[in-house]
Amino acid sequence: MIVRRRWAAAATTAILISAALSHPGPAAARPAADATPITLAATETALVRVQLRDQAQLDRLVAAGADLANRPRARDGRILADLVLTGAQLADLTAQGATATQIVQRAGDGSRHYADSVRAAEARTAAGLRAPAGGQRTTAAAAVDTLAVQQAYWWTTGGQTFLQAQVATTATDDPDVEITVSWRTADGATGSFPLYRFEDSGEYQYHYALPQPVPSRPVQLTATSSLGGVSRAVTPTLWPNAAPPPLPAGYQKDFIDAYLTPVDIQARIRRLARQYRDLVDVIDLPNRTQGYRRNAVAYLGDPAVAAVVVESVRFGDQGMNGVQVRAVDPGRPHRPLTVGYRDRVLTVTLATDAAGKIVSTTDDVAAAINARQANRFRATVEDGSAGLPMPVAGPARLDDGLQGTEVPTRPWTVQALRLGVHRDGSRVGVLAYSQEHAREWATPLVTLEFAERMLANARTDPATRELLEQVDVFVIPTVNPDGANYSFNDYNMQRKNLVNHCVGAARDPRYRTSWGVDVNRNYTVGSYFDGYVGASANCLSGTYAGTAELSEAESGNVIALARAHPNIKFAMNVHSFGGYFMWPPGAYRADGRITLPRPSIDESTLFLDSARRIVGAIAQERGTVTWPSQTGPVADVLYSAAGNSADQLYYELGIFAWDFEVGNDRWNPATGEWEGVGFQPPFDEAHGESQEYAGGLVELVRVARDHAAAEAATG
Ligand SMILES: [Zn+2]
Repeated sequence: MIVRRRWAAAATTAILISAALSHPGPAAARPAADATPITLAATETALVRVQLRDQAQLDRLVAAGADLANRPRARDGRILADLVLTGAQLADLTAQGATATQIVQRAGDGSRHYADSVRAAEARTAAGLRAPAGGQRTTAAAAVDTLAVQQAYWWTTGGQTFLQAQVATTATDDPDVEITVSWRTADGATGSFPLYRFEDSGEYQYHYALPQPVPSRPVQLTATSSLGGVSRAVTPTLWPNAAPPPLPAGYQKDFIDAYLTPVDIQARIRRLARQYRDLVDVIDLPNRTQGYRRNAVAYLGDPAVAAVVVESVRFGDQGMNGVQVRAVDPGRPHRPLTVGYRDRVLTVTLATDAAGKIVSTTDDVAAAINARQANRFRATVEDGSAGLPMPVAGPARLDDGLQGTEVPTRPWTVQALRLGVHRDGSRVGVLAYSQEHAREWATPLVTLEFAERMLANARTDPATRELLEQVDVFVIPTVNPDGANYSFNDYNMQRKNLVNHCVGAARDPRYRTSWGVDVNRNYTVGSYFDGYVGASANCLSGTYAGTAELSEAESGNVIALARAHPNIKFAMNVHSFGGYFMWPPGAYRADGRITLPRPSIDESTLFLDSARRIVGAIAQERGTVTWPSQTGPVADVLYSAAGNSADQLYYELGIFAWDFEVGNDRWNPATGEWEGVGFQPPFDEAHGESQEYAGGLVELVRVARDHAAAEAATG
């Protein structure tokens, strides 16, 4: 009951708000008045880009369990967020002053995009931002600040040149300082754009803006502030200014024809192991998952009036789906409350008084079931039904509610591919793993495309062969297959695994899409349990950290693989979406924003230099450039993610551990907007992501090889 009140108080009912705080695109800068209002049917679920009213609204969402896929970006005190929510929740938010600016993905889109992709694969087989409001600030004579240009980068993609800048003012405590960047190109064109103050955890970081289109290569950039500060003129630097070796003639790629379910991925792993016997081992990871299973459950009574939630102790597929439960009137006075189970029917005979009137309450019934049938059933009073007279009810049939018919229900063995000529620990190891988060369907496409590229080309391309001579590659395509099965078959916005640690009223099946543990908040370093920010103890939160560090099979598997192979020195954790490239530290404590220890100067240099190489390799495929503002330590460029896997790999096991967020925003030249792609874009986009980020992983293998060679050379 407490749980329900908390949700109700949160008003936005953020149990499902698995969301992603995102950057303000120019769309957000436009007044909503001239746009068609975006609405959803009350029960429809969608991924929506929403401009929140204020920081307090964001804080309420976060407190209520929002999970953030992108970082909050404030503009004029307002914030843009990508939120998974129902029409009713959107209406709540709108009533509180939020404005929806883009429907990124509707709930049905995922399954449609999956079906489209499978159909297409079968067919192939057969054949700017607005200036801050308020105008020029009156400048106090003494209050001149100093500006430092921290970043000024340019690049060209799809024929369009972009400029991005980050500038810090010494007037860190003045929230009203306005900073404007002026630029000049080689051929003399000039222009300017405003920057926006970025704070994180209450601390000023810097001013910045989204990449801005400019007519050609910018050669000079200057920043000025409303306090009179002027920066030095700087020459913007080409980003990332690194390119991989050109692909040799006949280089093989494009092994991805469709979205892949966990069952599809299992088949792909088996096929690769058969086809490339000399180069592949399949490793069964030690912790089997729960499986695509849930307890069977039913409401005994009417939840709109009075009901008890009755749940099987075993999973539904273990003989409990279809079991019936009923509450009956004994039809005689002076009867006690009794509970009996026979022939797959749980019968609760209600108590009566001297007049034969039923006197059992919902609480009495739940307590009686728990006392007398604890080995088979668990019962809780439905949220809102406490203390009410128990109605005669049923029979109701218990059911696990799972829709997938082609998914094995047994515990799942998560598998890793090990690729290399020498798979004996003698070579430097690289680990690529994906789909910790179930709904991120494009991510296993990235790691499987990468794996097959390495294997196929090892037979035909001497350079690839040499890479697999020198490097020992580990790939876990789907860390969280149970959640992925649920995402494909039941609720496509599922982020977490399928293990339900909720107790009491939170086990009500109305919360079924909010159960599970966030696998990437369940690791041991900088965790929620250690007091770090960016995970939750609420079992219904999108970032629920679990019952303890490594309480989950999924996270345990990643660490077990890394521990068992101490030659692994590099790792990439593949997520979607947003277009980020990140490394530790990935978490900080709330008070004072104290991050996990910063890498040394040498290590930071390795992280950044390698990142530039890998960003360059990603760009080679279709020109996608990961922004400099989204390349850096997690805690700086995204948000604090307590207990994430990369931090444990780095701090505990000494592995250079990065994170991709594939699925970069796409520039729409017609509207002048950066547009989000979502978790399950139309397959063509997911395919593009798989191709470009697989190229990034190949470059990571080269980074590992070069690092090992340099270490060997220095002895
Ligand atoms: Zn993710």
